[in-house]
Amino acid sequence: MKPDRTDHQDFSQFIGGRRLKIAANQTYSVINPATEDVVTDIPFGDKDSCLEGIAAAEKGFMVWRNVNPFDRALILKRAAALMHERLDEYAKITVLESGKPLTEAIGEWKVAANFFEWYAEEGKRNYGRVIPASRNNKRMSVIQQPMGVVGAITAWNFPAYNPARCWAAALGAGCSVVAKPSELTPLTAMLIAGCLHDAGIPDGVMNLITGDPAVIGQVMLQSPSVRKISFTGSTRVGKILMDGASVTHTRLSLELGGSAPVLVFPDVDVDQIAAESVTAKLRNAGQVCIAPQRYIVHEEIAERFLQAVKKKMQSIISGNGLDPKTEMGPLIREVQRENIDRIVKNSLAAGAEVQFGGHKGPGSKGFFFEPTLLRINQADNPCFQQEIFGPVMPVITFHTLEEGLMLANQTPYGLASYVFTNDLKTSVHASEKLEFGMVGINEWYPQAYEAPFGGWKQSGLGYECGPEGLTEYTEKKLISIGGV
Ligand code: NAD
Repeated sequence: MKPDRTDHQDFSQFIGGRRLKIAANQTYSVINPATEDVVTDIPFGDKDSCLEGIAAAEKGFMVWRNVNPFDRALILKRAAALMHERLDEYAKITVLESGKPLTEAIGEWKVAANFFEWYAEEGKRNYGRVIPASRNNKRMSVIQQPMGVVGAITAWNFPAYNPARCWAAALGAGCSVVAKPSELTPLTAMLIAGCLHDAGIPDGVMNLITGDPAVIGQVMLQSPSVRKISFTGSTRVGKILMDGASVTHTRLSLELGGSAPVLVFPDVDVDQIAAESVTAKLRNAGQVCIAPQRYIVHEEIAERFLQAVKKKMQSIISGNGLDPKTEMGPLIREVQRENIDRIVKNSLAAGAEVQFGGHKGPGSKGFFFEPTLLRINQADNPCFQQEIFGPVMPVITFHTLEEGLMLANQTPYGLASYVFTNDLKTSVHASEKLEFGMVGINEWYPQAYEAPFGGWKQSGLGYECGPEGLTEYTEKKLISIGGV
């Protein structure tokens, strides 16, 4: 199904305030993962598009850095208002390219718009500090200034949230942006760029390019004008960028993979937490960096928990995200589905037991995979070791708090973690000992625009969201006045 086009739906690269339809005469088909149909063809850029984008962003930065933060805020807020206004129409495009249920896409657009609103305000609070000097004739202060051109490379799983989180903070700080959204879901990002344009952002401040990711990554790294790359994606690609940045000295923010543990203690309402676990696990078909992944359930309640999870999984309706009955959509691509299938098969070979699902499907079209419940006995099982990024829920049991925490921390990742208990002491000890950037106590969304989002260990470098997210796009400068 092709989306209806209106004036502001213009799926193109966006450089220096101009929409560029075709670069290097190449196009790329965006595929609907629920039907495998082509949604639309978009221009597929190249090295030159990236260089043009950077050149435009250099000029854009010269303008934007001098725009008063209060005036920047007016433009960012206008863009947010346009996103809210166009939300119903735009969310459908997000469903077409990502496969997620419409309600999830609508929620994501609201959050994306709110990021621009929040960073519009936060940009006004880019405070420095005054440092009392140890000599009477000296004065010292520190100011924070925008870094310059930011390269923003983002993943497909949240086509609106991922770009908005990074672009809003960078623009709020006074930087200009060259964005390369995922080639799998570029349309949503193009719509956001269009809103910024319609809101009156000066030419060259917000640029969006498409093309071969590896080439674009290298061009961004090698350009002395690109002061920072903000990357949301896999730990594998994050490491490639770190390797490159070790030579070019480009600053990096990396928001990478995760393998979130969920500790369920015996004092909870087991049926309720089990049902919520399924809903949380199946959000975006499990393709969420902070997705609850490794369920570590107290042995006293394990059987009941598994039964309640099975019951809830049986009720889940998967299908096309535009169908209002759909609770879970497909995976993004066949390669992703193959990957999940391989993880499940390897986990079974290593001793896991399927309690529900375990197969591709339903239907002959679309990259669907069944909600799947696996019971495992050993933490070295593949589904406990690797980031799954799909609707697969492995459950292992624990006996003592120490054992539960040991299992939870047994991962190279450190993004999100979850604890379910009604015992205050357990929640305090667990939250302090978990080695993760975010701990949700009795909640499934341990994140907010106003709070830092970042990964420990191999889950990242730096922070998005909150005041920390703004600071990531600034450099500190000491101004020291002598002989006063
Ligand atoms: P990916 O690393 O394959 O791709 C992410 C982005 O990087 C895409 O835009 C892609 O085109 C680009 N890219 C690919 N190869 C590149 C290269 N060599 N150089 C430069 N750019 C390159 O990841 P993905 O499969 O799109 O996304 C899934 C991963 O992202 C998961 O691991 C997930 O946990 C992670 N993720 C993390 C967060 C977070 O905030 N921590 C949020 C969303 C997704």
